[in-house]
Amino acid sequence: MYDVAIIGGGAAGLCAAVYLKQQNNALNVVVLEALDRVGKKLITTGNGRCNITNSNLKNCFYHSQTPNLINIENNKFGIKTTLEFFKKIGVEIVFEQNGKAYPASYQASSVVDALRFSAEENGVEIICNCCVTDFKFNNQEYTIITENSNIMAKNIIFATGLYSGGVKLGSTGKAFNLLKAKGFKFEKTTPAIVQLKTENTITKQLKGIKIDAAASIYFNNKKINSNFGEVLFTEYGLSGPAIMALSREVERNKGEFKVLLDCVPNFNEQQLKEMILQRVENLKNRTTQDFLTGFLNKRLGQVILKLANIPLNISSAELELKDIKKLCNLIKNLEFKVLATTGFINSQVTAGGIALSEVNLQTMCSKKHKGLYIIGEILDIDGDCGGYNLQWAWTSAFTAANSILKGI
Ligand SMILES: Cc1cc2nc3c(=O)[nH]c(=O)nc-3n(C[C@H](O)[C@H](O)[C@H](O)COP(=O)(O)OP(=O)(O)OC[C@H]3O[C@@H](n4cnc5c(N)ncnc54)[C@H](O)[C@@H]3O)c2cc1C
Repeated sequence: MYDVAIIGGGAAGLCAAVYLKQQNNALNVVVLEALDRVGKKLITTGNGRCNITNSNLKNCFYHSQTPNLINIENNKFGIKTTLEFFKKIGVEIVFEQNGKAYPASYQASSVVDALRFSAEENGVEIICNCCVTDFKFNNQEYTIITENSNIMAKNIIFATGLYSGGVKLGSTGKAFNLLKAKGFKFEKTTPAIVQLKTENTITKQLKGIKIDAAASIYFNNKKINSNFGEVLFTEYGLSGPAIMALSREVERNKGEFKVLLDCVPNFNEQQLKEMILQRVENLKNRTTQDFLTGFLNKRLGQVILKLANIPLNISSAELELKDIKKLCNLIKNLEFKVLATTGFINSQVTAGGIALSEVNLQTMCSKKHKGLYIIGEILDIDGDCGGYNLQWAWTSAFTAANSILKGI
């Protein structure tokens, strides 16, 4: 009989296990992990560097079908607890200018190692290759049914993640389906922080090129979000942090989505026009195919000239005012019709999940099942890019652990 059985050895599950044992070493805590190792997704985070949290923690960076229930900003287990916790387990944290925080080693694997070592040092039992398929509640005790055996526990924590990153990272959604089958309310699940497939074939021609751009996303011709940063052109469409940050609504709503790129956000329209006119003057003897070279990425410049129906083999002196207007408009508003996202397998987080109304957010305990806690990504809360999703995993883990400690 365990005091606490944690289902899922990912970010939230490992954090809850270590924190519980740090606070009360007498507790019997077990982590049940479906994969052959714990922390497989955590190791891939932040391009292997693990963007562990963000100093600019605000509710507005989190999303849910019930956004008014989110109050991570004032949660007592916020950044301070996170920094103390990681320091204690041996992870020094460094902050970058934009508030993003990383382990000083810049290695996600070192975060997993530190969690694993601390779990061992504190006597957390970890059982891998142990997929939980069902649970029963009887006489104040839970029987957890796994593919191999039954495990008894007084408290259980669901920390199973959801669909992001795909099955190889443990994101099967099996535990989500189990909770749904038990009558837990849920919100539609869709991929977020993900690349976009677009109709525009020019992304194929520009494959591999990265630019710093201001990207805006429109839904039925209304601008709904914008962002500045790196955009990567790919075979299928658009990628890069600036694009992924705009992707959340694409699969949540039916309608037309388009992305507009401002390829030169540092120039306003007037400045751009004056600059192009100046280039016509300066580069009279150059053919149009190199007219934008030295100002825009060469291939991007040529693609834009083609889109403006300007032949690439005429002299730049032949450019007319109408051509210049077209060029300015394309450079400031390069349009891409969005077809879809590249799916859960490429997404960093799942929007939707178990409804927040199912848990008391002060304790993370189910409102219907005493001693059953739900934390991390499986819940209907997702954060923006920048360390916000891991912060939610840590905050919800500390909150659940604290409530269990108080109860015991
Ligand atoms: C490529 C990538 C990069 C990311 N980068 C960042 C970043 O830099 N910063 C950031 O804040 N967020 C990042 N995220 C998001 C972040 O990783 C997740 O939000 C976070 O890991 C969620 O934690 P979790 O514990 O809820 O779920 P997970 O970390 O997914 O852990 C769930 C665990 O439960 C196990 N499990 C599932 N079902 C069962 C079952 N039935 N029985 C037993 N075990 C089960 C799984 O195998 C898994 O190990 C990234 C995500 C991806 C995919």
